Amino acid sequence: MTFSWTQHRFSGGALALDVANSVILRFDAERRIDRYADPAAMRDFATAANRFSAEKELFGTLEPVTPENHAAFLDLREATDRHFRAGVLGTSTAEDLADLLDAASVIIRRHKAKTGRTPLDDATARSALVLATFEEPERLKICPNCQWLFLDRSRNRSRTWCDMTVCGNRMKANRHYQRQKKELTA
Ligand SMILES: [Zn+2]
Repeated sequence: MTFSWTQHRFSGGALALDVANSVILRFDAERRIDRYADPAAMRDFATAANRFSAEKELFGTLEPVTPENHAAFLDLREATDRHFRAGVLGTSTAEDLADLLDAASVIIRRHKAKTGRTPLDDATARSALVLATFEEPERLKICPNCQWLFLDRSRNRSRTWCDMTVCGNRMKANRHYQRQKKELTA
C-alpha cells in the first residue's frame, strides 16, 4: 500500500505536533516507522500540511524543508516530542525546554532573510514556540491508542483520542473483541 498524508495524520491540532507524530509507534523498537525516512514523503508532508494542518491559516503557504536543513528539522522534531510528551506526563525538565528552544532558534536564525514563502521547518519552530507558551497546557494530551501528541481544541476539552474515527473505533473494536473472547472461553 502506498503511503499518503491523510487528514488523520494531522490530528495533532498544531503543526509542531503533526511533525512530532510523523514517527509512528515511537516507543516500539520493532514496529516503529519514521515517515520522514522517505525523502519523497517528507517533501509531500509540506503540501499536505497546507491542506490539513489545524494551523494552516497561521503560517502561509508551506514549502518543503531543503536538504541542508533536514538534520536541524529532525532535531527540532525530537526535541518537540520530548518536551511536550514530558509536559503531559508531568516529568518535564529545564533541559527538555532548553533543547526545544535551542533547536527552534537554530532554524529561525537560518531563515531570517524573508523570501515571502514559509519553509516548513521555520513554521514548525514557530508552532512549537506558540505551544510552549500555550495558556491552557491541560489541552495537550497523548492518545491512549497510538501515543500521538495532540492539542484538544474541543470546546469542553473532552477529546480522548487523537482521532475518534481511527483510534477511538480501534480501541472500541478491541474491547469488544476481548469481551467476546472472554465469553467464548468462559
Ligand atoms: Zn491515536
